[in-house]
Amino acid sequence: MALSLAALAGFIVGAVAVLYYRHQIEPPRRVEDDGDAEAGALPHGVASVLAVLPSSAVVLDARDRVLRASSAARAFGLVKGERLMAAELLALARQVRRDGEIRESEIDVAGHKFGQESTSFAVRVAPLGSHGQVLVLAEDQTEHRRVEAVRRDFVANVSHELKTPVGALSLLAETIQDASDDPEAVDRFASRMQHEAARLTYLVQDLITLSRIQGAEPIPTPGQVSIDEAVGDAIDHCNTKAVAKDIVLVTGGTEGLRAWGDDELLVTALRNLISNAIAYSPEHTRVVVSVRPAGDSVEISVSDQGIGIPEDALERIFERFFRVDAARSRATGGTGLGLAIVKHVANAHAGEVSVWSKEGSGSTFTLRLPAFGGTAVAVPPPSPLEAVK
Ligand code: ADP
Repeated sequence: MALSLAALAGFIVGAVAVLYYRHQIEPPRRVEDDGDAEAGALPHGVASVLAVLPSSAVVLDARDRVLRASSAARAFGLVKGERLMAAELLALARQVRRDGEIRESEIDVAGHKFGQESTSFAVRVAPLGSHGQVLVLAEDQTEHRRVEAVRRDFVANVSHELKTPVGALSLLAETIQDASDDPEAVDRFASRMQHEAARLTYLVQDLITLSRIQGAEPIPTPGQVSIDEAVGDAIDHCNTKAVAKDIVLVTGGTEGLRAWGDDELLVTALRNLISNAIAYSPEHTRVVVSVRPAGDSVEISVSDQGIGIPEDALERIFERFFRVDAARSRATGGTGLGLAIVKHVANAHAGEVSVWSKEGSGSTFTLRLPAFGGTAVAVPPPSPLEAVK
């Protein structure tokens, strides 16, 4: 009896040792990734098709194990080892396997790393071959959704901005009708109508400019732009506003510099910066427009002694329709699009715009543009500051 027990124990130990040995030398079933030469149990040709698809692709076998996964599918956390991680997607794959019908859906997959945001996917799940395999294709929708949200916001903002002056015009027209026998009142309301109509015109003009520079073509007619002329044109345009507030417009720095770009767009950008400098400054102050060469760029800065911008708003002022003080912006005829236009003009020229500001002290906006010919060269020598007004 003792002998047979010892034999049994010996047999069990032996069997366990054999099993352990086998497990050691037999590699676990391999999950194939992009770049693997063999397609494993995949139907012929599928691996090569999956390799050229831009979407994240996963093939499941009949027991929901991952047979193949693209690197994108792993990077997004859709697949870990042999498992499809999104429960919703797995349920969809099972349904497809059961009835053989192709399905499409939108799913959100939680970020697989700490602090990572979830990703939205448009997924398409289809049966593959006759052995219960299922193909999952997932397209990252995050960027698409973000762009959609920005577009929706923009349309809502534009509608709101248009509604205000249009509503005011309609009310004023009614009031004028009622006051038809009072010439003084008619005169007063008619000039307010003109004011609202002008506001509408500025808004529409800014919207057209913005849509032009946001289009596919970066710069419509690029060429050599004289900075002196662009600054001069912009200043001429803003002079009346400056005179009305007794603000002195001063130019300075290096003359004769040339940038590469579109003169009309550059004048628009400079005009927006100078007109903001005037609008957000008290009377009897100075606005200085200064030009200097900076290696392969030309820098134009517009400095004012105005109200300045709070630190927490500095990051947002280039957003469309962002205003530190909406009432003040509207009172000065602002559309909320001026700086967004400046930013897009800078981007379209492969340049940049930056801002320094201190509340109560003033602001300096600097526009950096590529120099014509690759290097900023001043034709005439630098000139001292020159008062324009
Ligand atoms: P707006 O038409 O309202 O002036 P912008 O896009 O030109 O629109 O500017 C956005 C906001 O940035 C303004 O509403 C204002 O609050 C702030 N801002 C712009 N330029 C200046 C400046 N030079 N000084 C102070 N605040 C400014």
